[in-house]
Amino acid sequence: MSSGEISGGCACGAIRYAAAGPVKFALRCACRDCQHDSGAGHGIHVGVPRDGFAVTGSPTIYTRMGDSGAAVHKAFCPTCGCPLYGLADRAPSTVLLVAGSLDDPARITPRKVIWRQSAQPWDLLPEDIP
Ligand SMILES: [Zn+2]
Ligand SMILES: [Zn+2]
Repeated sequence: MSSGEISGGCACGAIRYAAAGPVKFALRCACRDCQHDSGAGHGIHVGVPRDGFAVTGSPTIYTRMGDSGAAVHKAFCPTCGCPLYGLADRAPSTVLLVAGSLDDPARITPRKVIWRQSAQPWDLLPEDIP
């Protein structure tokens, strides 16, 4: 997938991030947590190495227990509310960027759907990817 630096931030500009890349994966997750986070039927996670990931500004971090039993930390902007990225204790070498917060969301291609069983009937997920 995409190589090179990948950058993004929130809508109000208070928080910016940059990752050295490369993008490891991009997937759609239809779990209930992602429905809450996105306000829609699913979230889109973009996995990048934590090595080389840098944040400017002060996101608010919300921590909850993931389905694996390990903590998941979600970062969002306290001013404009945009979700930005997540860190999972279970996968400490990866940062999960929120696709909508990327400067160039068109550069990623989600190639997998997870938690399809939690999807809402009104949320159309592609059937042609696993
Ligand atoms: Zn903001
Ligand atoms: Zn999810």
